[in-house]
Amino acid sequence: MGNKKTRGSLIILSGPSGAGKGTIHNELLKTEKNLTYSVSMTTRSPREGEKDGVDYYFVSEEEFKKEIKKNSFLEYAYVHSNYYGTPKKSVLESLDKGLDVILEIDIQGALQIKENYPDGIFIFIMPPSMRELKNRLVKRGTETKEKIIERFKNAYKEINEISKYNYVVINDEIEKAVEKVHSIMLAERCRVDRIEEFDVNNQEELLHELLVDFNK
Ligand code: 5GP
Repeated sequence: MGNKKTRGSLIILSGPSGAGKGTIHNELLKTEKNLTYSVSMTTRSPREGEKDGVDYYFVSEEEFKKEIKKNSFLEYAYVHSNYYGTPKKSVLESLDKGLDVILEIDIQGALQIKENYPDGIFIFIMPPSMRELKNRLVKRGTETKEKIIERFKNAYKEINEISKYNYVVINDEIEKAVEKVHSIMLAERCRVDRIEEFDVNNQEELLHELLVDFNK
């Protein structure tokens, strides 16, 4: 009844490295058929087990700069000494089809998106504590000590920007954090201002006809 068509929502997940953004979006993709993940482009080298076109599109700095010139990015930023960017075309196509799109990007990128797509849903994922964040980064073992220190310093800067986001989810227990992000998505889908073609007049006419029927 009524809500014939909803636009896809752009969901922006940010938060310090090690906060658990990746695990959260992967869990959501398992259950949410209406959700797609935007694979970013990066100049960072692949980590062990990462696949080109799945985790990232891994490109050289030269290739990345060509894409900047072609205006191919919805946003891009220089993060932890590498470029990262969100390909524009695939995201816009998915939103047009009514799919929700999840972006996992840093604060600089999130602020760029906010300028151009203010109705995005901005969610900040927080680790339970800075000590726990450090433990997770060390345990993950994907970065050198210098890189961990760089990411840790960035975490402090990012946490200071939390007020720019609509929601904050503390990831102390992964199942609960996934449930919270999922609930945010479901609630946002029901927002009247996200529903196009909500045909109020049609509903009123139908109601009127039914009442006339009753009174016959
Ligand atoms: P990682 O190297 O750990 O995969 O990612 C490092 C940081 O870059 C994370 O904060 C991640 O969210 C961010 N990032 C990943 N893809 C993008 C993107 O397309 N744009 C921006 N601005 N940041 C991104």
